[in-house]
Amino acid sequence: MNIQHYKQRLLDLEKTLSARIGREADQGRGEFIDSAHDVGDASVADEVASEVFTEAEHNADVLQQVRDALGRVADGTYGTCIVDGGPIEEPRLEALPWTRYCLKHAQRLEVAASSRTPTL
Ligand SMILES: [Zn+2]
Repeated sequence: MNIQHYKQRLLDLEKTLSARIGREADQGRGEFIDSAHDVGDASVADEVASEVFTEAEHNADVLQQVRDALGRVADGTYGTCIVDGGPIEEPRLEALPWTRYCLKHAQRLEVAASSRTPTL
């Protein structure tokens, strides 16, 4: 496995997500102030702002996982499943470079937590 390749992808993702989170937080605040002012109805503005913030929260969540993955690159455990310590499939790492689970365990977790966001 080419660790440097995944490390570079993780660093790129970290940069992209950080920039996106900053932009969305600004956008959320801006829309809140503008629409509250225009329509005089704070509940509409609340709704718009909370949609933007939910997206930002999702990005923040992925960003956290990306940073965790970079920590595993540093300590040499990157690319192994945290459940059984086995290797994570490379196509899976290509698709989700921050994942902590091999395909088998990710699927088990998805079944266990089907109401939540798909497990990475
Ligand atoms: Zn596993």
